Amino acid sequence: MDLSIVVPAFNEEESLPELVAWIRRVLDPLGWSYEILMVDDGSTDRSWDTMRKLKQEHGPLIQAIRFRRNYGKSAALNTAFRNTRGDIVITMDADLQDSPEEIPELVRMIREEGHDLVSGWKKKRYDNTLTKNLPSKLYNAVTGWMSGVRLHDMNCGLKAYRSDVIKSIEVYGEMHRYIPVIAKWAGFHRIAEKPVVHQARKYGYSKFGMSRFLNGFLDLATILFISKFGKRPMHFFGSLGLLFFFAGFCFVSYLIFTKYAFRVYGMTDRPAFYISLVMMIIGSQMFLTGFLAELISRSASDRNSYLISEHIK
Ligand code: UDP
Ligand code: MG
Repeated sequence: MDLSIVVPAFNEEESLPELVAWIRRVLDPLGWSYEILMVDDGSTDRSWDTMRKLKQEHGPLIQAIRFRRNYGKSAALNTAFRNTRGDIVITMDADLQDSPEEIPELVRMIREEGHDLVSGWKKKRYDNTLTKNLPSKLYNAVTGWMSGVRLHDMNCGLKAYRSDVIKSIEVYGEMHRYIPVIAKWAGFHRIAEKPVVHQARKYGYSKFGMSRFLNGFLDLATILFISKFGKRPMHFFGSLGLLFFFAGFCFVSYLIFTKYAFRVYGMTDRPAFYISLVMMIIGSQMFLTGFLAELISRSASDRNSYLISEHIK
């Protein structure tokens, strides 16, 4: 199969039929084989009934998966990814904000230009300026700077992947915001972006509020830590621990030295004394945390699973 289109949906009953009709209008004339894979992420409206109706109407074109409760967009994407059959996988939001007319060009960029992942870039956005547009600029800059994946719009719902990419990665929690970072860390370096048309939400309401900024930042920290030190946590905790302990130790030695060599008494009145004690304690705790983390990563079942791209015999 040429193409799988993945659509996560949480309370999007009005948009779904229009979206499917629109996708068909764009793709049917091209003669590709494709499927539309919808995930109902525990909707409380009639999204699931709508999906069933669409399935009856369009037959094998549609796959629909329903979660028993709302697990979030990452869970929906991850589950869909495990079930796609297309060589190229497109993700798009259900809310009609992303346009299916971008799909052919995204597919061309993957097929002909050889990219692993092409991310949409909502160059002109139609969301609330204060809560979405400005913070998102800052967030993209920070993410790009910290992860080395420089995209204008990391979190754009409209993306295209070579099937390999999504079969090799796992998205959970709220990590869907960082799929390009996760993909790069898995060894897929050919990442590009394409400006895409964006529209105001026609039905329903936005599911993500301000909380995504704090959560998003914490998730980024997690991803960066895991990607770098996930398999060797002691290198992180151990070096920090040594640094702290050593600094504290030097301080204390200096204090003791001045006490006996120059008769500077009242050591316990000096703030440096307490600071250095705390540093030594934090340092040893970091070190111990490193050992614990090593024990945990050692017993992880995937401690020796690597992505092999080729093997010649
Ligand atoms: N979504 C989902 N589960 C959730 C929240 C959102 O599947 O818990 C879907 C939602 O239905 C939409 C997409 O994720 O298709 C993007 O959500 P939304 O449009 O609300 O985000 P925004 O465009 O406002 O950032
Ligand atoms: Mg939206």
